[in-house]
Amino acid sequence: MRTVQKYGGTSVADAERIRHVAGRVARRAGGGDEVVVVVSAMGNRTDELIDLALSVAPDPDARELDQLLATGEHMSAALLAMALKAMGREAVGLTGSQAGIHARALHGAGRIERIEAERIEAELEAGRIPIVAGFQGVTEASDFVTLGRGASDLTAVALGVALGADRCETYKDVEGVHTADPRAVPSARRLADLHYDEMLEMATQGSRVMHNRAVELAAHHDLPILVASSMVEAPGTLIHGGPRMEERNRVRGVVDDHDIAKVTLRAVPDERGVAARIFEPLAEAGVSVDTIVQNASARERTDLTFTLARADLRRAEALMERISASVGASGYVADTDLGKVSIVGAGIQSAPGYAARMFRALADAGVNIELITTSEIRITCIVRDDRVGDAMNALHAAFGLDRPA
Ligand code: ASP
Ligand code: MG
Repeated sequence: MRTVQKYGGTSVADAERIRHVAGRVARRAGGGDEVVVVVSAMGNRTDELIDLALSVAPDPDARELDQLLATGEHMSAALLAMALKAMGREAVGLTGSQAGIHARALHGAGRIERIEAERIEAELEAGRIPIVAGFQGVTEASDFVTLGRGASDLTAVALGVALGADRCETYKDVEGVHTADPRAVPSARRLADLHYDEMLEMATQGSRVMHNRAVELAAHHDLPILVASSMVEAPGTLIHGGPRMEERNRVRGVVDDHDIAKVTLRAVPDERGVAARIFEPLAEAGVSVDTIVQNASARERTDLTFTLARADLRRAEALMERISASVGASGYVADTDLGKVSIVGAGIQSAPGYAARMFRALADAGVNIELITTSEIRITCIVRDDRVGDAMNALHAAFGLDRPA
């Protein structure tokens, strides 16, 4: 069996943990499996490197910042390889470039273009365990480019696909994916398994357990991912493509997200082209909009509301006066203190009653709903940020998630 294992920052945070991980990798490889390892930077190293950059330049050059950030993962890869060799295991630490991971720059938000796996294959052939620096690729110009925060997961899945691995295992400081974030909902339970689609919705709606692009890629190539703890021996959560959707008609988890702002344009004329004139300037300014709600109009006018990340609000607000005037709206209002709660489960939208149960549970918990959106496998309510915790606990109980399924 061929496996790509990925160890996150907490799992390699110090020398002792690196030696612990080395022991795990050595045991696994000793059992006859072909193992390729991907590592994140130690602990909060990436944040520390960003702070360091900010201390020498107020707005660090994007290319140089990527050259700097890539070193966090270089350190981990070299150290883990050393620890393995000290245990008498053949291993080799590789940068993203040495591992053949080619990426396209937008610095800080690179995209993997292709993986030339010859070096890794040769190392495996020679009996060495490749330890690859996650979170990075190399451009045509031989520059490092990072793939986005938390994207070592993506490196692991991409390597798994390129190497034809049987599965990808990501080891973290949590025991798997839970029915809710255990920090918000104390009765949250670990899920034994989850469909790719469910994990993708959870990751996109705010769960920080797996990087959403990693899940997307795994789903596309049907590469199962195990999420488990690097600290304890426990089964974890398997993310995979079966069984059939119809058999999974229930809520699997609730997800919370904070950091949400909303903007409402008042009395927008109901005319062709208005929505385009509102969202084009925002897109040009790089503001990414999440939920958009436009109601049926009364007397040819309607309010239009959209949500966005709080960090983007200032950039959006700089444009809103002009946008409002250009479409003939009566003005806009912005609101920053919002959060969202979602219920996720394959098939819940086509089955009756889930939405009603969700709204009843929130009403009984005294939580007011500001906006509602749905996908095929998710229902999301935007609520006041300080009500998210109560909302999560109410939903977790209402859908029986605290009881074993
Ligand atoms: N070290 C990078 C970060 O903190 C990548 C990762 O951890 O996956 O974002
Ligand atoms: Mg990290």
